[in-house]
Amino acid sequence: MADVDNVSGGDGPEDVAADAQVVVVGAGPAGSSAAYHLARAGVDVLLLEKDDFPREKVCGDGLTPRGVHQLLRMGVDVSGEGWHRSRGMRWVVGDREVLIDWPGLARFPDFGLTRTRHDFDEILVRHAQTAGARLHTRVKATGPLTDRTGRVVGVRAVAGPGGTPVTYRAPLVIAADGTSARLAVALGAHRDKARPMATALRRYYRSPIRSHEEYLELWADLRHPSTGDRLPGYGWVFPLGDGRVNVGLGMLTRPHKKSPDLRATLNAWLARTPPEWGLDDKGADGPLRSAALPMGLNRRPQYGRGLLLVGDSAGTISPWNGEGICQAMESGEVAAEAAALALTRPAGPARERALQGYPAELNRRWGRYYRLGNFAATYILSRSGFQPLLNRYITERPALVGGLARLLTHLTDDPSHDAIDHVLNTLIRLTPAPTARR
Ligand SMILES: Cc1cc2nc3c(=O)[nH]c(=O)nc-3n(C[C@H](O)[C@H](O)[C@H](O)COP(=O)(O)OP(=O)(O)OC[C@H]3O[C@@H](n4cnc5c(N)ncnc54)[C@H](O)[C@@H]3O)c2cc1C
Repeated sequence: MADVDNVSGGDGPEDVAADAQVVVVGAGPAGSSAAYHLARAGVDVLLLEKDDFPREKVCGDGLTPRGVHQLLRMGVDVSGEGWHRSRGMRWVVGDREVLIDWPGLARFPDFGLTRTRHDFDEILVRHAQTAGARLHTRVKATGPLTDRTGRVVGVRAVAGPGGTPVTYRAPLVIAADGTSARLAVALGAHRDKARPMATALRRYYRSPIRSHEEYLELWADLRHPSTGDRLPGYGWVFPLGDGRVNVGLGMLTRPHKKSPDLRATLNAWLARTPPEWGLDDKGADGPLRSAALPMGLNRRPQYGRGLLLVGDSAGTISPWNGEGICQAMESGEVAAEAAALALTRPAGPARERALQGYPAELNRRWGRYYRLGNFAATYILSRSGFQPLLNRYITERPALVGGLARLLTHLTDDPSHDAIDHVLNTLIRLTPAPTARR
């Protein structure tokens, strides 16, 4: 990361408000998961969040079995009211519908979940608190605090409605501040513009008829509202089980190409859905909201000078399908493990080696898979979306459809359990590992 001004000592009326072994900035899935795993490891962790809970987060609210796996690893009870289970995905391509059940793997559960982020994020943050993490809400980090060598030794923030300046000191800081990536940017960790990026919007609708569906519905044949050209994305209708559905669409941004008007694209698509689904202005429950999706591990280094980047701040969203909750939680867990190990060592080279284990482990888990996904997103999906992959030849062959679904959702057993695992694991292993530069 590039050098920034030395701010140690401060230049304003700041107080040292709290000390911790690790300060985590942002209590979304990445931050709460990092805080939970750190607290479980006996680390004194302070979680800073600019908002209060419960709060909204623009999202599709859908979890694949990989995401459910992360919740189970945290001991979150997903059997109670409010969690809606899915059996798989239903892809719609023109006049064809393809039903794909989640695979029965040894490593992952065989169901997905939906739950509004309004509830989900609060459940996760309370879970982290119960494990021992301290939470300060209405605290907005404004930048990293660095010592004379440029190492991060805490964060600067403003707290409360009056925006009182505060400083929090800790030997390690985890940036889980989402797409803004404010802390990372302040240290010069900029987005790699060669990696794919997407924009998505969503809205809730009252749709009793679709709300209890067992499949996540995905429409792969989005068209430009004026030209009719195929678009690089998909639309979704995710059942929430409470009388509502989460409806939205996500679109890869294409370099040198003007993005279509997403609202008009959504309206044109929803006009094709059956009227009894109620996906119109009359059935809407709340406003349409949009946000960016940083993908493909697009911000590096994920560790440098005392700062670890997790979740969207590191661009961990999957370039294959736009899924980011699971990846946020998983990166939070991996970062927590590295930080907890590092803190058992004195400051210096041995501690740094443990911290460098974080990007190394992300690379081991996702490096090749994301590299392949970045390639697919850039050269295939960004041209005409998922439609070519879901052509008639593939969709009429259950093994091919199953394999494609498992590739898109990163669901295989390793060591391989069946032929699909074997093919996918081999494909990923044959992909050259990313280097520090690529
Ligand atoms: C429309 C849309 C649909 C999506 N659908 C899905 C889906 O269905 N499934 C899926 O898996 N993923 C989906 N994603 C992606 C997913 O929402 C993100 O990848 C995920 O939320 C990332 O989690 P995070 O914890 O890294 O960041 P966030 O969830 O953004 O959390 C960041 C937290 O940091 C706080 N914060 C930010 N700045 C500061 C600051 N300066 N100081 C203190 N706190 C701060 C924020 O208030 C927030 O609480 C979707 C994204 C969009 C935009």
